[in-house]
Amino acid sequence: VSRAFVKEAEDPDPRCPAPPGCDGVGVPVTRVTLVARLGESRAAAFHEPAFYCPDAACPVAYFDAFRGHASRDELLAKAYPKHEGAPLCACFGVARETIEDYGRRGDKAAMRTFLERVGSSDARCALLAVDGKSCATEARRTFMRALEGTAEERS
Ligand SMILES: [Zn+2]
Repeated sequence: VSRAFVKEAEDPDPRCPAPPGCDGVGVPVTRVTLVARLGESRAAAFHEPAFYCPDAACPVAYFDAFRGHASRDELLAKAYPKHEGAPLCACFGVARETIEDYGRRGDKAAMRTFLERVGSSDARCALLAVDGKSCATEARRTFMRALEGTAEERS
């Protein structure tokens, strides 16, 4: 048995089923998140583990290893970044523009307050976020991009 064969025999994580998906890598999601975002009966059609496709341009929201999938239009609520205008932070309904504004103003205090809030037990990411995870990483990235963008304009 060659090394290459052994590698192929391993079970790789499934890709976003194309078409209609993007063939990209997904983020594992729990049953709790699936049920919360799709409803009990739609979520029941998925094999475990189920994955979320984080590609903003891709119409697939969730998929499993057996090409089962749900489109973004099947989500019970519009979700960032799959839908235009959906809040970056689903738990507290904070828009991406708000975070960008903190960055442009260099308002680190406002950003810190936001991050404390999303890090608190009031955040219900597993139920409200489409990927079931905290938005803190994406929010930090958005903030830094806006902050650095401002610095470039000044120089
Ligand atoms: Zn996709």
